[in-house]
Amino acid sequence: MKKLISILTIFVIMILPLNAYGQYMDNTYMDIKIGKSYELYDYINLSSDTSFFLFEKDDLGREIAEIDEDNIIITYKADMIDIMDSTLNILESIPADGSIVIGTGDNIIKVGENRYRDYISFLIKDKIQVINYIHIENYLYGVVPREMPASSHIEALKAQSIVARSYAYRNIGKHRADGFDLCDTTHCQVYMGYDNEHKSTNEAIDQTYGEYVTYNGDIIETPYHSTSGGKTVSSVDSWGGNLPYLIGVEDEFSANSPNSSWTVEFSLKDMESKLLSAGIYVGEIQDIEVLDTTKSNRVKNLNIIGSNKTQTISGVKMQSTLNLKSRWFDIETEGDSNGVNSTVYVVDGNSIKPISINLDRAYVVDGKNRSVSRSGISRVMTSTNLGTIGSVYSPSPTRFVVSGRGYGHGVGMSQYGAMEMAKQGFSYKDIITHYYSGVEIINIGK
Ligand SMILES: [Zn+2]
Repeated sequence: MKKLISILTIFVIMILPLNAYGQYMDNTYMDIKIGKSYELYDYINLSSDTSFFLFEKDDLGREIAEIDEDNIIITYKADMIDIMDSTLNILESIPADGSIVIGTGDNIIKVGENRYRDYISFLIKDKIQVINYIHIENYLYGVVPREMPASSHIEALKAQSIVARSYAYRNIGKHRADGFDLCDTTHCQVYMGYDNEHKSTNEAIDQTYGEYVTYNGDIIETPYHSTSGGKTVSSVDSWGGNLPYLIGVEDEFSANSPNSSWTVEFSLKDMESKLLSAGIYVGEIQDIEVLDTTKSNRVKNLNIIGSNKTQTISGVKMQSTLNLKSRWFDIETEGDSNGVNSTVYVVDGNSIKPISINLDRAYVVDGKNRSVSRSGISRVMTSTNLGTIGSVYSPSPTRFVVSGRGYGHGVGMSQYGAMEMAKQGFSYKDIITHYYSGVEIINIGK
């Protein structure tokens, strides 16, 4: 009879649908490296409002020991982690391989001055690294308020929650070689733990519990950025992969955000030293001109024109060299015109009477409607002489004015755009499907 029951039990388990909620709660934990690393001889303070408990990491239901203290001190000795009370009596020693995690009765644990949810473990490299073993939903509580102002519209916060959740899920194991999943800096996603949480962002996370962005049934990586400036960038034009859900879209919602347009100026000396530090030397710089752009207006290549040579560099390289907010920019060369008066006379289509303009501030447009930079101007008129002065015109720039649009890589969701869409009455689903093409939102937390 007993055998029959166990066979029946196995049968029932097999035909029951998988309990997705339970799976999601049980399986979606991540190792986040938090805060600073400690020297191997350092003492690390943990505190709690309750007792501490030790658990098997692989079986969180199994409590190994209770430590009835509200402050404990951790140190590393002889390949073990010693857990001591405040008078440095050793209470427990656990392996230094992260297989045992430390929790508390209320799931809040303070490491140094900062509180975290769920569990803490330690990883020994050259230093002691502190790992927060945390469920993805609890992790998001400490991420979303760092990514978007908590005062934003709830629909924007919900979109940000789903996007940060999908991004985290797809990046579990990003630091596998280092022994954990994600770090807590901008390299992965900024995560600041429990003390940084906010009521409104927690609500947005709770209201979208278990919701992810999918394409063809797969959870996708959902890159996002501060503001697109008016047009987002396709994955092809950014890092190369052709992802059908990351195409550049018109984004009027980001057109009037902070940093939707910006200007930064460089003196000739500044520009030369920045280019030099990036290994670019062309002699004396005479001009810089954008050669071509992507469909989303981001610079592909530029020419650095110098007294020795002209060098072509990519927009990506120029962005990092000058530390520009985005790759959507143009560069204007301004300066003295060695021996040539900056005031020149032009005739437009309305009158044959020449009018005076300052050459440093002039745009000359060619037949294809492209603006020609100063070094490309070969014929200008003086007031008395209609001859060509291109051969004697030797531009010597004094400064470069870079004007651009947008902040960030421009791929996927624009955070300011999402905030503006929510203000205009769009839902979080509208926001996500605007920025990620052809996607669906699924809930694996049910
Ligand atoms: Zn990282």
